Amino acid sequence: MLRNLKRIWPYLWKYRRGWAVGLSSLILKDVTGALLPLVVRYAIDALTSGKRLQVIAGLALLLIAVSLVKGFFQYWMRLILVGISRDVEYDIRNDLFGRLVTLSPGFFARSQTGDLMARSTNDLNAVRMMLGPGIMYWTETSLTFLLAIGIMVFSDWRLALLALLPAPLVSFNVIFFGQRIHSRFQKIQEMFSDISSRVQENLSGVRMVRAFAQEDAEIRRFEKLNRAYIAQNLRLARLQGTFEPLLEALIGLTFVAVLWAGGRQVLQHRISLGSFVMFNTYMSILVWPMIALGWVVNLMQRGTASLTRILEILDQVPAIATPPDPAPCGEVRGDISFENVTVEYPAGRALGPIDLTIRAGSTVAIVGRTGSGKSTLVNLIPRLLDPNAGVVRLDGIDARRLDLQSLRAQIGMVPQETFLFSATIAENIAFGMETATREAVESAAELAGLASDIEGFPNGFETMVGERGLTLSGGQKQRTAIARALVLNPRILILDDALSSVDTLTEDRILSGLAHVVAGRTVILISHRVSTVRSADEIVVLDKGRIVERGTHEELIARAGYYADLAQKQTLEEELEAI
Ligand code: ADP
Ligand code: MG
Repeated sequence: MLRNLKRIWPYLWKYRRGWAVGLSSLILKDVTGALLPLVVRYAIDALTSGKRLQVIAGLALLLIAVSLVKGFFQYWMRLILVGISRDVEYDIRNDLFGRLVTLSPGFFARSQTGDLMARSTNDLNAVRMMLGPGIMYWTETSLTFLLAIGIMVFSDWRLALLALLPAPLVSFNVIFFGQRIHSRFQKIQEMFSDISSRVQENLSGVRMVRAFAQEDAEIRRFEKLNRAYIAQNLRLARLQGTFEPLLEALIGLTFVAVLWAGGRQVLQHRISLGSFVMFNTYMSILVWPMIALGWVVNLMQRGTASLTRILEILDQVPAIATPPDPAPCGEVRGDISFENVTVEYPAGRALGPIDLTIRAGSTVAIVGRTGSGKSTLVNLIPRLLDPNAGVVRLDGIDARRLDLQSLRAQIGMVPQETFLFSATIAENIAFGMETATREAVESAAELAGLASDIEGFPNGFETMVGERGLTLSGGQKQRTAIARALVLNPRILILDDALSSVDTLTEDRILSGLAHVVAGRTVILISHRVSTVRSADEIVVLDKGRIVERGTHEELIARAGYYADLAQKQTLEEELEAI
């Protein structure tokens, strides 16, 4: 709890001026509010003792004035304090998003998307409710209690004692129910995460669900989850439903007691009618804080639970980040070397040990069966992954010593699986470089062999693609990804099976178009088409994470190993196709 407070403190401190003004308004509002019953007492006593009308009219005016001042401060209190909670929410939401986009694949493998979504929406809202209305009503009610009780004790301590008799009972109630409400709420929040995850998975995998005719089964499973969620919510509602009437009954009893004891004292002329009415007014002023107290306790408990869940994300340290003292990284030449590199996934070793040097400006092809570690190897270069042992060097410098942003800016990566954002095709191509000119985007599209496709799109380069737009074919997506990498004008270009969904003819056309662009740059080409890789300076064959063959096309054909086999099979296929 204290640790959480320390963690959230900078977010609050940032708005210290606002807090000061807001809390001052709150205090002034409470103080003027507490003065009102005093004025009422004088007014009534003035009436009963037969004072002149002028005095009474004066007191009435005073009543109005005090109410106006109270209303004025109440307005500013709400506006400022609730406003700050929105500001803090905004800051935390930005930080959450900023953290989520820097976290490494391992974190996302451990987390469910729905759960992360729930934390960034529901939990964030609970935290805002705690920081805004929570803190505001907490302070307001405590202060009102103190002021009202103080004045009551001062004017008649015996009557005040009577009025406060049920207070311990009320506290007991609030604490007893508060804890139970809290734990039930936490369970509800967890269930909401489960439901979100379920929905998200079903939407992402909607084709699978249909293809395997699992709609009914999924709906049934979802209904079960949904019903459990409702049941849990009803349990909370039952608890709250018992809590509030109990509280009100206690308050009602207090009123009866004060009416009886106070009324007798008025009849015996021991206190004035004005004092008696004042007492009752204070009591009715106290009703709202007493009820609000339970609600506020609830808000605070929800808020702290949610804050813990949010801090769990904010406290995640990105496993892959720029070191505190990065080595200077200007324009790289493009030498890449792997020294004794191994990569382990939870399931076991996927790569290595690997020793491989790629000279700047050369083209290296990597071939191998699915799962042989090709993608793992190239993902090490832009540090999408760090090796478990060994070093990856760029121009002789350990990649982990470089500034991550500048390192990645030099590398054009076309991953095996591409993703298009819900944006225009031009925006998708310029994704890595928002400042790219239209000419740059168009020439990248031309080089990637995408230009003629785009001409056929309804709005050309302004056509919306992705989830909320045109659905592109696999080959078009891959070529968009290539254009995206080319726009960066990178020193190092990595094509991870980037042309697998494109026919051989188009592939040849794209590659020959690329040939003069990539001259002088380091290119790493993953493919299983011999026709694609044959002209590379070096071909590396991976198997089970190890390099098993390497050399030029001719050398590898002469070795009669995996590569030679592959070449033979593909020549055969081509010949068959030709027939
Ligand atoms: P390739 O690109 O040659 O098909 P990969 O590098 O994708 O091979 O995968 C190499 C091995 O590592 C495979 O056995 C694969 O199952 C495993 N692997 C790849 N990515 C992950 C991951 N994110 N988590 C766990 N295992 C992985
Ligand atoms: Mg791969």
